[in-house]
Parts: sequence; C-alpha cells; structure tokens
Amino acid sequence: MTEWEPVIGLEIHVHLKTRTKMFCACEVVYSDPPNSHTCPVCLAHPGALPVPNLLAIEHTVKLGLALGCEIATRALFHRKNYFYPDNPKGYQISQYDVPLCGRGVFVVPKPGGDQQVGITRAHLEEDAAKNVHIGGAGGRIGGSAHTNVDFNRGGTPLLEIVTEPDLRSADDAKRFLQLLRQTIVELGISDAEMEKGTLRADANVSVRKRGEAGYRTRTELKNMNSFNFIARGMQAEIERQIGVWEAGGEVVQQTFDFDAASGALTPRRSKEEAEDYRYFPEPDLVPVEPGDQLVERARAAVPELPGTRLRRLEAELDFDLAEGLVTSGRDRLYARTPGDRRAVANVLMNELAGKGIDPEAVDGDELGKLVGARASLPRPVFAEAIARSGDEGFRAEPYLAEVAVTDVGELGPLIDTILAANPGQVAAFRGGKDGLLGFFVGQVMKETGGKADPRAVNELLRAKLAG
Ligand code: ADP
Ligand code: MG
Ligand code: ZN
Repeated sequence: MTEWEPVIGLEIHVHLKTRTKMFCACEVVYSDPPNSHTCPVCLAHPGALPVPNLLAIEHTVKLGLALGCEIATRALFHRKNYFYPDNPKGYQISQYDVPLCGRGVFVVPKPGGDQQVGITRAHLEEDAAKNVHIGGAGGRIGGSAHTNVDFNRGGTPLLEIVTEPDLRSADDAKRFLQLLRQTIVELGISDAEMEKGTLRADANVSVRKRGEAGYRTRTELKNMNSFNFIARGMQAEIERQIGVWEAGGEVVQQTFDFDAASGALTPRRSKEEAEDYRYFPEPDLVPVEPGDQLVERARAAVPELPGTRLRRLEAELDFDLAEGLVTSGRDRLYARTPGDRRAVANVLMNELAGKGIDPEAVDGDELGKLVGARASLPRPVFAEAIARSGDEGFRAEPYLAEVAVTDVGELGPLIDTILAANPGQVAAFRGGKDGLLGFFVGQVMKETGGKADPRAVNELLRAKLAG
C-alpha cells in the first residue's frame, strides 16, 4: 500500500459577501421568496449590460494577497459558453487566461514542518441560478415532475481558487481546506459555510508510485458538503484507484459524486464531461485594472492570518501541533479566549483529541465559556460538557449552572459524617498514613455526586483530620 502516493489538487468556490450581485444592483439574499431579486441584467434580457462589483474585486484581491498570489495589473473577463436552464445568458462571465490573482503559495503549519501548497490562480465569476427539482432528483420521476429555477442566486459573485496538485493525502487536503476556510472567514470576504453552500470544494485525485515522475490520470469528486465528507470521499477514491492499477487496469478520467451516507462514488454521465466552453473575451466589459491604491488598501485590510498566528502561538505557548488535530477549530478558540489561551490549548489537546472530537465541530464561544468556568465546575460535569461539546447545537449554559459545592456550611457536616463512619482510616491517617487523604476525598466526591470542589474538600479534610 505505501508504495502508492496520492496526488490531490483542489478547486474551491466561495460565495463572496457583498450587498449586490456581481454585475447588477440586485441584492444578494437567499432567504427571500424565489425570483424576488432579479433584473434585466441577471435575467439576461437582450441589451442589458453588466457593471462589475467593486467590492467583489477588492475581496478577491484581498484573498490573493493572503495566498501570496501575484495580483494582475490588467485582468480580463471572459464568456464561458454552455447551455443549461440555470444559465439564462447561455454563458457565464468568468475569467480565463488572465485572472485577477495569479500564482501564489499558501503555507499550512504542520507538525514536522510547514506544507507549501501552490495556488494556481484565483478568479472572479458569477454563480448560476438554482435549479429546484420538484418530485425527485432530475425532475423526471413519474412523468409529472418538473424543475423550477430560482434566479436569486443567478449572477451572485463567486470566487474560484485552484491549487496545484501539491497535496499528498486526504488528511493534508482537509487540513488545507480548513485553514483556507478560516483565512477566508477572518478576511471577512465570505461566511464560507459548507453546509450552506457558501464554500464548495471539488477534489482532483490521482495516485502514482512513490518516486515516479509526472502524474497519472485524475478523477474529480464533486458535491461534498463537509470537511469530513471530503476527506472520506478522497480516501475512498484513492483506494479505488490503487485497486484499479493493482488489478492491471487503467484509471479513466471521470467525475464522481460522493455519497457520504453510503460511502459510494457514483460516476456522472460521461456526456457531461465533454465540455467545450468556447471561451472568448467578454465584449461588454473593459479589462479590470486594480490600481496601486486599491491593492494597498486591500493589503492594509489583511489581518494577521490564522496560519501565521498558529505558528506564533505555538512558539508563545510552547505546544506541539498535534498530528490529526485541526488547525482552524483550535485556532479559532484561541482567538476567542485571549486571556486563557494556554488553558484552551490544554483542553483541546487533551480532552478533544482524547475523545476524538473534531474541533471544527465545536463552537468556540461555548467551549470558551466552559474553559473559563472549569475551576468552579464539578469535574464530572466539566468532563461531560467537553464530551458533548462537538454535538450539534451544544450550549455551555446548562453545565455552567452546576457550580461546584465549595460551601463549607454544606461540606462540613458531610465530612464530619464520613469521618465518623470511618474511625479506622482516621486513626491510620493521624498515625502518618498521608495517602489516606485520597480515600476521604473520594468518599466526599461519591456522596456529592462529584460536585464538591476538590480544593475546598482537601482543605477542609486536612483541617478536620488535624483537629
Ligand atoms: P482543468 O480543470 O482546466 O482541466 P487543470 O487540469 O489544470 O484544469 O487542473 C484542475 C485541477 O486538477 C487543479 O486543482 C490541479 O491541481 C488538479 N490536477 C491536475 N492534474 C492532476 C493529477 N494528475 N492528479 C491530481 N490532481 C490534478
Ligand atoms: Mg476545472
Ligand atoms: Zn440583477
């Protein structure tokens, strides 16, 4: 198995956070009734002319700077021609040979050395409208089914990022995506939420023999809507390809949908593969020329990025980047609890990793509350809360209410009862068997259901045993 090496390149689409669409003044709102945000431009009425969205261009430049890309001084929009109901113009305005952001490198901190992932390009385009299939996928089931099209999404700004085939495992690709997502979120250019579809990633996968020059045929995986699904989909495809090669077969270039529930890879009809987009420069738009002023403004707005921060905190806090731990989730938690980063680091390292909880699934604010309150929480309550912290909709509040019993008035009588019930142990302790303190602490914990504050119990026990 180990003689095979996976090769992965990613194509990522991000919905940019702008008030209006890419080439018209329609508002970007997905929650409103279908087709309530349309106009002659995004419905492709004859004679309507596009006007580029400046904020979308600034967002793209910002991301390009964060990815170390060359920013074009003169970028072009092209028409990408294809016919589909969600695309009323019959073409999509995109970028082709001269994108806004050219080659760059994104550095992913990793145990045992940073990983450099080449960025091929990042460009701006408009999203298609949304097909809503009624009565079954494909809109063909039972003869009466049909498809509605919601044009609210049609023409909204979309950023596409393409990486070089530099990733060498499904885990590395997942880590890259998570750090990229975190970077996008902190740049403030998108919510980048996979579940909501504002971040979508397609994975190109091939395998080759370790040490082999060049790459073998790749396949593409689409429709994966969580980091874990993506990692699982890639892993399944890597294993499938190794199987094909080992059986003496050949991997065929095709596109798969990954079904996370069944783990199945379903090939798309090959007819959809044969694409000829006949790109040509968009005659209705002049080239985009981001001037020095725009680029410098964007540069000034780029904050310390998560990857850099992670390295800085690693040095400041003196911890190791644990293998398998997600950078972004943990990193976000640091950012949220600036006063007690070391405690958060410890919780994450020891508790989350130990319990196999994906930090990405944990709400940083809620975990921050738990960590902040942990000294006053009964240990079992804290442990239970941590164990549940990756659950959907987890809230710290109910756990915070279970404050540890530190009240001497409550603990005192209980301790008296316990000491009275164990005269032999009391005598032994007083005779020098110090280790018996643990026995008494254990009894108190048992009686209080673990709610007593260990420090208070210790102090009180020592005082009473001495007296
Ligand atoms: P296009 O989609 O226009 O064919 P490319 O072929 O240049 O573009 O690559 C698209 C994506 O596929 C990129 O992310 C690239 O890194 C990746 N890729 C290209 N070749 C391979 C390969 N042999 N194995 C894995 N990924 C690849
Ligand atoms: Mg492509
Ligand atoms: Zn419009």
